[in-house]
Amino acid sequence: HPAFDVHAVRRDFPILSERVNGHPLAWLDNAATTQKPRSVIERLSYFYEHENSNIHRAAHELAARATDAYEAAREKVRGFLNAPDVNEVIFVRGTTEAINLVAKSWGWQHIGEGDEIIVSHLEHHANIVPWQQLASAKGARLRVIPVDDNGQVLLDEYQKLLNDRTKLVSVTQVSNALGTVVPVKQIVELAHRAGAKALVDGAQSVSHMRVDVQDIGADFFVFSGHKIFGPTGIGALWGKREVLESMPPWQGGGNMIADVTFEKTVFQPLPNTFEAGTGNIADAVGLGAAIDYVQRLGMENIGRYEHELLVYGQDRLREIPDVRLIGTAPDKASVMSFVLAGYTTEEVGRALNKEGIAVRTGHHCAQPILRRFGVETTVRPSLAFYNTTEEIDRLVSVVRRLASSSR
Ligand code: PMP
Repeated sequence: HPAFDVHAVRRDFPILSERVNGHPLAWLDNAATTQKPRSVIERLSYFYEHENSNIHRAAHELAARATDAYEAAREKVRGFLNAPDVNEVIFVRGTTEAINLVAKSWGWQHIGEGDEIIVSHLEHHANIVPWQQLASAKGARLRVIPVDDNGQVLLDEYQKLLNDRTKLVSVTQVSNALGTVVPVKQIVELAHRAGAKALVDGAQSVSHMRVDVQDIGADFFVFSGHKIFGPTGIGALWGKREVLESMPPWQGGGNMIADVTFEKTVFQPLPNTFEAGTGNIADAVGLGAAIDYVQRLGMENIGRYEHELLVYGQDRLREIPDVRLIGTAPDKASVMSFVLAGYTTEEVGRALNKEGIAVRTGHHCAQPILRRFGVETTVRPSLAFYNTTEEIDRLVSVVRRLASSSR
């Protein structure tokens, strides 16, 4: 395969030429959100300059253009996930909204008193709180798959949690706090064997690896556009057709209606059933452009390059006395969480920011897993395919300087 030309790729991202505090920006906060290639930015402008309309195809020319662009984006998401049917792709605001949709619709229908919902200890708050709310409303119970000291889920313990009260297993494919890659296919298979449905949170996986929802086999797969080089405010829920068709709408309004009287409403079929109101049309189209972009690069090329960077970064950080890496599973993507003895994570973040290096410090909306490792916060550099070893060297040299300076 041709070597991955990171410098050519970087030229596709205008913001990567920014200077911050007198230094070139080093964007190492990709787990929080990713930067946008010019093709996405230009696609959004093109939509507003040439296609903008609400989506009601038959009304007029621009309505037809907007509808076609929106539905073409849905088809791109379908292809990206290798979903069998384009009508199984529901546009939502993002991962959080997708999980809440499933909890409010499928969950309210199927979870009852004494039922059990299983999540892993790695989950983002977005894949904990909606289930906790549902469980408390229904008298159900939330159960948690523990992790080992490297941050990998314990499959034996998981199997012990499964029983005939288990109705749903909802797990992340990649941990946003530690970077752990979770064996979701195996987890889904075991869930199904126990008669439960399964949801996979792809917020942190889709930008780093090829995802095939038919291969994973889950009932639901969710992700956010902004974490895959697309706009904020748009994401997707994929669900198996027969599961989605059995679910009631979670919101009511325009765009999802076949017929309304004051006595009764008849809903449209998928995907409109779950897209009440005017959707985020332009940003869905932008997400389609982002998917085109990463597919041109090739997810395998992206994954291979990022893996080399991750190994390089973790090895450099490990060499620094007083750095403790949090999350050391053998199979990881993108994330290099750490703490530095003698410094708060905020202090490390501030020192990095002074040099133009952007990382997230804090609890990363995943407090349970950080507490599992005895910390409240970490410094979290997170990589994308446009990052370089030079950027990692800059990060490491700041951390090294802090570590060696007496305070
Ligand atoms: N799950 C995971 C694993 C995440 O990393 C995130 C975002 N940090 C979310 C869910 C929530 O995504 P969003 O805020 O885009 O809805």
